[in-house]
Amino acid sequence: MKYFARLWKRLRSWWSSLWDRPYRSVKIEELPDRLEKKTLYIAGEGEHLWFVAMICPCGCGQVLQMSLLKDARPCWSVKVDSKGVPSLSPSVWRQVGCRSHFFLIRGRIQWCG
Ligand SMILES: [Zn+2]
Repeated sequence: MKYFARLWKRLRSWWSSLWDRPYRSVKIEELPDRLEKKTLYIAGEGEHLWFVAMICPCGCGQVLQMSLLKDARPCWSVKVDSKGVPSLSPSVWRQVGCRSHFFLIRGRIQWCG
């Protein structure tokens, strides 16, 4: 039994390390047909960033797009650290569908409410 307990513990920590893997960011010029989970796609050309896209973290599978254009409302800003881990502000609040409301901070989803 001890063996199984150890195995279980190891499996669980392996699973949670997968689960806890932070978001990464990918620079794109055009949105790919299939988005990967735990990835923030940053669309733009050179210095000009247009929007970010990601799969909704709630699991509903919807693709979310947030504008980065300063004169768009609403507009978001994205920061990427030296490891490519993104932060997005302000929070994302879907008004339709799953109505997810979350922050993406240093690659982690923080749910609101
Ligand atoms: Zn969702």
